[in-house]
Amino acid sequence: RTVYVNGDYLPENEAKISIFDRGFLMADGVYEVTSVLDGKLIDFDGHAARLERSLGELEMASPVTRDALLAIHRELVARNGIDQGMIYLQITRGAPADRDFAFPDPEETPSSIVLFTQNKPNIADNPAAKKGIKIITIDDARWGRRDIKTVQLLYPSMGKMMAKKAGVDDAWLVQDGFVTEGTSNNAYIVKGGKIITRERSHDILHGITRAAVLRFAAEAQMQVEERNFTVTEAQEADEAFITSASTFVMPVVEIDGAELGGGKPGPVAVRLREIYLEESRKAAV
Ligand code: PMP
Repeated sequence: RTVYVNGDYLPENEAKISIFDRGFLMADGVYEVTSVLDGKLIDFDGHAARLERSLGELEMASPVTRDALLAIHRELVARNGIDQGMIYLQITRGAPADRDFAFPDPEETPSSIVLFTQNKPNIADNPAAKKGIKIITIDDARWGRRDIKTVQLLYPSMGKMMAKKAGVDDAWLVQDGFVTEGTSNNAYIVKGGKIITRERSHDILHGITRAAVLRFAAEAQMQVEERNFTVTEAQEADEAFITSASTFVMPVVEIDGAELGGGKPGPVAVRLREIYLEESRKAAV
């Protein structure tokens, strides 16, 4: 596989980052994941805009322009022959600098940028989407700025492990009795035809897929309500689903052991998945 690191395209085993990199020592960095369908990028502009926002919130400058970033994405897709899959992008506060909590002077410590591809032939034709996934709910023990897409993913990793140990697919996070989002996705319920999802704030990541899905839902005359919901309300809903760049729209059929919709993906989730795939393929670059 060819990867991109700080200006160079290299075989993955030749790509290197300093042990002093702030991403490695402090999780001081941000990332994005963009899907590739039919060799094209899904919602590149959305991901680029969120990346710029994340960098700004952390007082980091982007080492590349948006146009250069698009060119790098396309080059990696071409060099690795990616038809269906994803591109991971990470920018950290870089190296070298003495280990210190305070940010180093960016003149002396340039940021690091890394991109790589992952081939995922089943990304659109995902068997899990036909069955739906099961989730548990766990305490949301993350920090308070989940709107910044940082690489500090230890708690979400622990959440995935808790789900795995419980014999289910994923976990939703709960704060003060209300669902915030999934470990790596946004969370939704559907009741009486209405799509309900938590409103945007510092408590959740502002999903790029979320924005697209809510737009498509409104265009299809579906009702959308952005508000908090509890675990009990979710368990009593007609259906539930998650969204993310790598799962698109994925039905949820069980929450903490309570089955939804007879254990089958609900019609709203199924329809939104179809619309999302169709529309985002049309708009892909
Ligand atoms: N919330 C969290 C915590 C996530 O990690 C992700 C995916 N990275 C999402 C939501 C979904 O965001 P997107 O649709 O932009 O992939």
